[in-house]
Amino acid sequence: MKALKGTYDLLPGEVEKWQYLEDRLRRIFRLYGYSEIRTPIIEELALFKRSVGESTDIVQKEMYSFSDRGEREICLRPEATASVVRAYLEANLAAKEKLSRLFYFGPMFRAEKPQKGRNRQFHQAGVEVIGAKSEFLDAEVIGLLADVLTGLGIVKHRIKLNSLGCRDDREKYCRELRAAVEQRRDRFCEDCRRRADANVLRILDCKNGECRREMEKLPVIGESICPGCRDYRDKVLRLLDAGGIRYELDPLLVRGLDYYTSVVFEVTSPDLGAQDALGAGGRYDNLVEELGGTAAGAAGFALGLERLILAMDERGVWNDPISGFERFRKDAGLDVFLVKAGTGGGEIVSKLLSEARAAGIAIQTDFDPQSSFKAQMRQANKLGVKLVGILGEDEIREDTISLKNMASGEQRKIPRREFAAAINKELSSPTC
Ligand code: AMP
Repeated sequence: MKALKGTYDLLPGEVEKWQYLEDRLRRIFRLYGYSEIRTPIIEELALFKRSVGESTDIVQKEMYSFSDRGEREICLRPEATASVVRAYLEANLAAKEKLSRLFYFGPMFRAEKPQKGRNRQFHQAGVEVIGAKSEFLDAEVIGLLADVLTGLGIVKHRIKLNSLGCRDDREKYCRELRAAVEQRRDRFCEDCRRRADANVLRILDCKNGECRREMEKLPVIGESICPGCRDYRDKVLRLLDAGGIRYELDPLLVRGLDYYTSVVFEVTSPDLGAQDALGAGGRYDNLVEELGGTAAGAAGFALGLERLILAMDERGVWNDPISGFERFRKDAGLDVFLVKAGTGGGEIVSKLLSEARAAGIAIQTDFDPQSSFKAQMRQANKLGVKLVGILGEDEIREDTISLKNMASGEQRKIPRREFAAAINKELSSPTC
């Protein structure tokens, strides 16, 4: 049996990179005062139809949806913003705090054609700030995004930004766009002709080469927004300038999800090849109301974790001492390997292991009686432990144990009852 196409297993050796990534992300989210939210992986299909949009590629072509045993229309979430807003409304978070600053991690599911950086089960980390419309919050989430990338060592990235305007701007722009598309309708693919009737904005997401060439002749959304929305966008830009956050304006940027309004952005990496978007986000001021709540401003972003890992691979983050990855990996791994020479002493080993674990020490041994002293030392080396406990025949007889510091090579004998205390002391010393 094999893992399904577009899904993969994360094995020991690789999973530490993910643990490190999640740890760093959590630290940065905390610095900004965001709290974690966890929502279910399955949701009602209607949630995404209403929020992401009936005519988007995600809903039309990419959702894993099914009827459950109770004939309910369910799907595996393709993204998390809609779920977070649903949870926000269901728990009435608005009554508890003026602004909800939330972050999440988790798997998302889209039936896309798998390739490098594009999976069917992939993972996102994201933030949402719900409860107000303020340029300070747009600047906050974009600043947070920039901090995340820089903090992860992905220093070469580009933030592209645009404004989709308000509802009126969208309607006006859609009318203009539809009229322009109608004039050369036959030059667009069948999907786009369908989009022209259902939701013309989604034509701008089309990847077809012919359609993309035609798009260059279409009106541009970022250039046709009202003075109020332009002013709002400029206020955000001034705050980004003041914070030293670099961005580029891209009047062609539209997001492939219907709920976005006003300021939107995308961040790309030049190291990633065809799938170069690391993450994206923006303001979605109508979504809370559309899902049944009282109108409230909101903004957020989602980052693709697979692509962050790829970008970190490219940047050589794992071998860079500044990243602290090596230390993180060591701290997350085993502290001690217990080597036993000769036969006998099995009960002593058992007792030492449980005493050490009770004292918070990560310890392991090789229970194979055939394993030679040399083979066990090789194993200790391979595991990268900081200390090795050696229980030879002398030690068994004398009620002692030897402790070897793998970094310094120093070895000393201690009374066996001091084993756990001596390890903890040694582990906190600078030589470990
Ligand atoms: P979106 O929710 O479409 O705005 O996507 C946000 C980010 O999630 C993208 O910039 C990617 O980094 C990541 N992403 C989206 N779809 C996939 C996928 N199928 N496989 C891997 N990463 C993805």
